[in-house]
Amino acid sequence: MTRTAENTKTARRVVQTLPGMPTEDGAGVKLTRMIGTPQLPDLDPLLMLDVIRSDDPKGYIAGFPEHPHRGFETVSYMIKGSMQHRDSHGGKGLISDGGVQWMTAGRGVVHSEMPAQNDGALFGFQLWINLPAAEKMRDPWYRDIAATAIPDVPLEDGATARLIAGRWNGVEGPAPARATAPFIADVTIPAYGKQTIPLPDGHNAFAFVFQGSAQFGPEGEGTRVKDGEIAVLSADGALSVSAQAAGARFLVVAGKPLREPIAKYGPFVMNTAAEINAAISDYRAGRF
Ligand code: MN
Repeated sequence: MTRTAENTKTARRVVQTLPGMPTEDGAGVKLTRMIGTPQLPDLDPLLMLDVIRSDDPKGYIAGFPEHPHRGFETVSYMIKGSMQHRDSHGGKGLISDGGVQWMTAGRGVVHSEMPAQNDGALFGFQLWINLPAAEKMRDPWYRDIAATAIPDVPLEDGATARLIAGRWNGVEGPAPARATAPFIADVTIPAYGKQTIPLPDGHNAFAFVFQGSAQFGPEGEGTRVKDGEIAVLSADGALSVSAQAAGARFLVVAGKPLREPIAKYGPFVMNTAAEINAAISDYRAGRF
């Protein structure tokens, strides 16, 4: 067959497009859950993606008061606005306007995540990434990554990309090295622009569009994904994207599947029900 056929075979396609599920979490924060819903329970090793996007402080002011986590990592990325974090190990930090917090809960963290503003727009993401069984009880760890520490990937044709995790065009993101090899990029493509995003074969991936719209997939056979939609991608090859008239801005996230059993209960993600019960009793006994 021709090279074109071969390339088409290895290029990622959109398997499913979803609008997400409006819900509330924390003390009453309105958010849209994109992963971690009945329609899309997880995308191994990506367990959850929440989007907070509100111009009205009533939607976010209650925040996420003290709560625990065990067994996975949370990556919080603020597009606009500020959130303050405090934890049971004495850590605290502020993420704002383009900054990231990478928190590895390991055997247990109790923390709060509260808006550091009383009005104005707040727009951010929280992604949950699983830890392999062997690392679920590791020491907790976190790092605040300022917006200025997130590199731009050199791209042609007016496109820009901020690389939070993974490698692209010789640039490496500031995220910690992990067994799940996460790739996280915030990509902007101008009107009618095209880009190809390299993603490791076999790693599960999605794109979440939060401005404009674009066709994702091989040229001429792509699927249109618009503002507010998540596109679940097939597992192999690079991702081709063509922005439509308004341009497009989107997150692209990929991770190496762990293929281990998942036992999820609220803020605890372990491998077995017995480990969930242990997490609940350890938390109640103040052992986090
Ligand atoms: Mn939390």
